[in-house]
Amino acid sequence: MFNHSRLTAPSWLLAMLLWAPLALGEWVVEERELMGTAVAVELWSDDPDTGRRLAAEALAEIRRLDLMMNPWNPDSELARINREAAAGPVETTPEIIEVLERALHYSALSEGAFDVSFASVGQHYDYRAGKQPEAEQIAAGRAGIDYRAIDLDPSTASVHFRKAGMQLDFGGIAKGYAVDRAVAILQAGGISSAVVSAGGDSRILGLHGERVRTIGIRHPRKAGEFAAIVPLANMAISTSGDYERFFIADGVRHHHILNPGTGESAREVQSASVLAPAAVDSDALSTTVFVLGVEKGLALVNSIAGIDAIIIDGAGKLHYSADLLRETQAP
Ligand code: ADP
Ligand code: MG
Repeated sequence: MFNHSRLTAPSWLLAMLLWAPLALGEWVVEERELMGTAVAVELWSDDPDTGRRLAAEALAEIRRLDLMMNPWNPDSELARINREAAAGPVETTPEIIEVLERALHYSALSEGAFDVSFASVGQHYDYRAGKQPEAEQIAAGRAGIDYRAIDLDPSTASVHFRKAGMQLDFGGIAKGYAVDRAVAILQAGGISSAVVSAGGDSRILGLHGERVRTIGIRHPRKAGEFAAIVPLANMAISTSGDYERFFIADGVRHHHILNPGTGESAREVQSASVLAPAAVDSDALSTTVFVLGVEKGLALVNSIAGIDAIIIDGAGKLHYSADLLRETQAP
């Protein structure tokens, strides 16, 4: 502790000059509609101009990936793959190869609960219009869902479908990948405190000042309420829920996460949140765990070091992975 009364005027002045650069730092927040959802970059920068430039670069990167990986945009690279890959190997971008490798990894781990070729059925749903596929469309489309028939050759950066009628859709993993790429840009620019989020996928860098940030997990049935609050630093969290995009027909909820085994919405749980160091993993795994359900989902998560999950089952009850359970029960 120093004694104010003994501080002379010149040393006060010196102290203020030394502190001035710190005091000029500020929070920069940039938001944009990308990848079909709200994307936000929030960062602390000692130099506001640099902070704003980095936030803009991070958003530009997410936009670039969105243009590359949106299967509904006929000009996208992914749409081109979907048109051409059944006829023969298609050489593509390193980014698509990287996402596809990660996707196939989780397909193998989950024995197909996660499958980026779900779209051969998924494309027949229109959630906004409340339209579901006919039984024959589901049956025909299901034959095209098969991650094992996707041949990936990283040495030539090419993709080949060994089945006709296959369609890739990265909706369960691309947002997480894009968030990681945005965070990498911020880190390379010297940022050490930030949050990048794309819809239900967020990655947290460092602390908020001196405090650990908290992320709320939405209550699946009560709009505007949280079911849980999770403290997080240097982690990613993704939530997959049956309330994001859905319609109800004859009392049945049809939503955007499909069980590749049935070709219909996965119905065991209401929401699955996964914590992982990288958002590409939390994103793919939240969709995977949602499809697998409580028992198999927790078994998978507990088998991978550094990954945790909070699942809200069909009755609204919360389930935690082993590490979180230990933490919540610690004295
Ligand atoms: P969102 O943040 O869009 O709600 P989720 O991570 O919950 O994303 O994933 C849902 C999206 O994943 C769907 O909109 C669809 O694009 C894709 N998807 C649906 N079912 C599967 C599946 N079984 N395997 C892989 N991706 C899927
Ligand atoms: Mg996901």
